[in-house]
Amino acid sequence: MSQIDTLPPLRQVIVTHGLAPKKSLGQNFLLDLNLTSKIARLAGDLTACDVLEIGPGPGGLTRGLLAEGARRVLAIEKDDRCIPALAQVADAYPGRLQVLNADALDVDPLAHLTPPIRVAANLPYNVGTELLVRWLTPKDWPPFWTSLTLMFQREVANRIVAKPGSKTYGRLAILSQWRADPHIVMELPPEAFSPAPKVHSAVVHLTALPAPRFPADPAILERVVAKAFNQRRKMLRAALKGLTPDIEDRLIAAGIKPTDRAEQVPLEGFCALARQLA
Ligand code: SAM
Repeated sequence: MSQIDTLPPLRQVIVTHGLAPKKSLGQNFLLDLNLTSKIARLAGDLTACDVLEIGPGPGGLTRGLLAEGARRVLAIEKDDRCIPALAQVADAYPGRLQVLNADALDVDPLAHLTPPIRVAANLPYNVGTELLVRWLTPKDWPPFWTSLTLMFQREVANRIVAKPGSKTYGRLAILSQWRADPHIVMELPPEAFSPAPKVHSAVVHLTALPAPRFPADPAILERVVAKAFNQRRKMLRAALKGLTPDIEDRLIAAGIKPTDRAEQVPLEGFCALARQLA
């Protein structure tokens, strides 16, 4: 265990505060502070940024973020058993850590943080995708965050960076690549966590682009993409026929063959189609 701070090792924190992992909260903890510091470094230069962390648990990544110099960290944790452990971290870094005992889905980060804001989290798998989609689909762009550094199941990470023609290309790839630049920056085996999950994990770093790669209305793009990939084996003229009676003409006007399937259409094509349907 590395000495990144003067706080007790995480295994000891877990015993002291009775943090037996709960499956219902997606609790697979990272207990190696070398690893959590490495993830914090992958988030970029934190010294001039506020950081939003979702699901700090016993505080491994939180300590990494603070040791790497984050200006301020807002850590939102649903499990009230973790709050006393996180209060000790806050004491060790006076004025730099604010802990909220809340559901991350209910909190407006801008009420607590000052831009520039980076998001870093070993996300609870059950809410991870929902939060990512929410962060990628605000009406206005650029969003409140400059980067997201997020742990996912490796299979989800692959879907985020997938390219057209691949089986994993779909809604997550399009939403992630339309207004951000996503990369897998680290892979972790199950044994990196306690308890070990059944699957491999990966950290994805997404940088917000200053403007979308192609113009489109986010709500329309989301609706078109969801419908197209819902029936990914069907030709688009069939999969999208509920959107408008003249879908074939709209597809052609967007430069897409009506007989193509969703996974063959690049991001630019979906944006052109969203504009046709606006
Ligand atoms: N960040 C810690 C680490 O790396 O060891 C814990 C990661 S664990 C995978 C996910 C954490 O998210 C747990 O501490 C869990 O209690 C918390 N959590 C689960 N659902 C949440 C929600 N809706 N809002 C906030 N925290 C949540």
